[in-house]
Amino acid sequence: MKKMREEMRKDLGNNSSTKKSPKGQNSEKKQSVRKQDYSRKQASAGHNNDAKKASMKNGEEKKTAPSKKKRSRCGVSGLCGGCSMINMPYDEQIRGKQKVLDDLIGEFVIPDKFIRMKAPDHYRYKVTSIFAPDRKGKPACGIYKEGTHEVIPVKSCLIENIQADRIIQTIFSLLPSFRIHVYDEDMDIGLLRYVQVRVARATKEIMVTLVLTDPVLPSRNTFVRELTKRHPEITTIILNVNDRNTTMVLGNRETVIYGKGYIEDVLCGKRFRISSRSFYQVNPLMTEKLYNIAIDAAALTGKETVLDTYCGIGTIGIIAASHARHVVGVELNSEAVRDAQENIRMNSLDNIEILQGDATEFMIEMAQNGTKADVIFMDPPRSGSTEEFMRAACDIGPKKIVYISCSPWSLQRDLEFFTENGYEARMAIPVDMFPYTGGIETVVLLTHTK
Ligand code: SAH
Repeated sequence: MKKMREEMRKDLGNNSSTKKSPKGQNSEKKQSVRKQDYSRKQASAGHNNDAKKASMKNGEEKKTAPSKKKRSRCGVSGLCGGCSMINMPYDEQIRGKQKVLDDLIGEFVIPDKFIRMKAPDHYRYKVTSIFAPDRKGKPACGIYKEGTHEVIPVKSCLIENIQADRIIQTIFSLLPSFRIHVYDEDMDIGLLRYVQVRVARATKEIMVTLVLTDPVLPSRNTFVRELTKRHPEITTIILNVNDRNTTMVLGNRETVIYGKGYIEDVLCGKRFRISSRSFYQVNPLMTEKLYNIAIDAAALTGKETVLDTYCGIGTIGIIAASHARHVVGVELNSEAVRDAQENIRMNSLDNIEILQGDATEFMIEMAQNGTKADVIFMDPPRSGSTEEFMRAACDIGPKKIVYISCSPWSLQRDLEFFTENGYEARMAIPVDMFPYTGGIETVVLLTHTK
């Protein structure tokens, strides 16, 4: 168990598996291939993880692990590594995750029971598919075999949005007639590297991003016509150019070839514009619950000055703004900041501003300037926050810090810091954002001990 934890921690630190995590523009929580996406804010999916192990103790394994004869719910579960608990009953998955979380942060605060998904299938509204030759050199689209760069064809996936999977299959079927070649990494030839589909649950808008090695898509207009004829539900298509020898999915150059270039979604009564390179939670149903828990934890009265750090497109800050006096958000990714500023305008708010920059530098500056805040929301990437950030947060000294964590390992480390520096963890509520995988998302309320 201890060794396993170490492995997972290493894996999380390395941003998991086959793809390196980007910084800045393509920040850590976002753009990565399918398998990595699953583990974006989670424990590494492909590594028989702690949650899985925990739920299998006391001989339970015999009862629940799929026997050799019993077929897996998923045809590629042995290869993909995306859902390490795909064949495990939901109750058991939750028990396992609960145990991992209890073990990690129980010394600071006893976590509440997990908020569970009612129907934990097809919950991912963002799907990324790799387009590459398979082992025999034939074009394929799907996922990397765990720990390799070998593409395993995948037509549909139990945790992905069905419509998104269908669109990806249609694109794959269109390739021969348009003479579009998939990208061969070893030979460095071919055009199409990835397709990413994002579905907005509330508005039904759909964004398709084609990631190419070259800005020219053959017969572009005919391609768009064909694709939108077959899928009229698509509202925007983007060409993203990634011609670098990199492990990141998205490059920095983009052309909108259909529609407005972004989608809009509604969460907690607020409307959000989402661009292809901005972070947006993949499980919208549970995200609403997560945000409501975080905002409730802050118990805002309308008088507070609030900081929303690592704010992405401004979701938490914008939802909080209606209950606070003033909100300041900070985010590194400039595209997300642009979305956030547009989102403030769209929601007609005049008490919130979003700044572009590194959250740690922002906090240090705030502390040095003697700026005061009543509540700090922090929603850092998997690696957690920095010590300098937390030191500055303690110097600012808000009554409440609401920590939204996607890695209980970094959370454990950060709680140690906060509890040694004047704060105590009062409440921890885990929300199951990533069923079938080891992902553990938790909202923790820290309050001043004074
Ligand atoms: N709170 C948002 C985003 C959370 S994801 C939401 O709920 O949607 C974490 C965000 O932190 C990403 O948008 C990422 O771009 C941003 N980020 C990563 N490193 C950062 C840093 N050093 N400073 C500021 N923001 C950072």
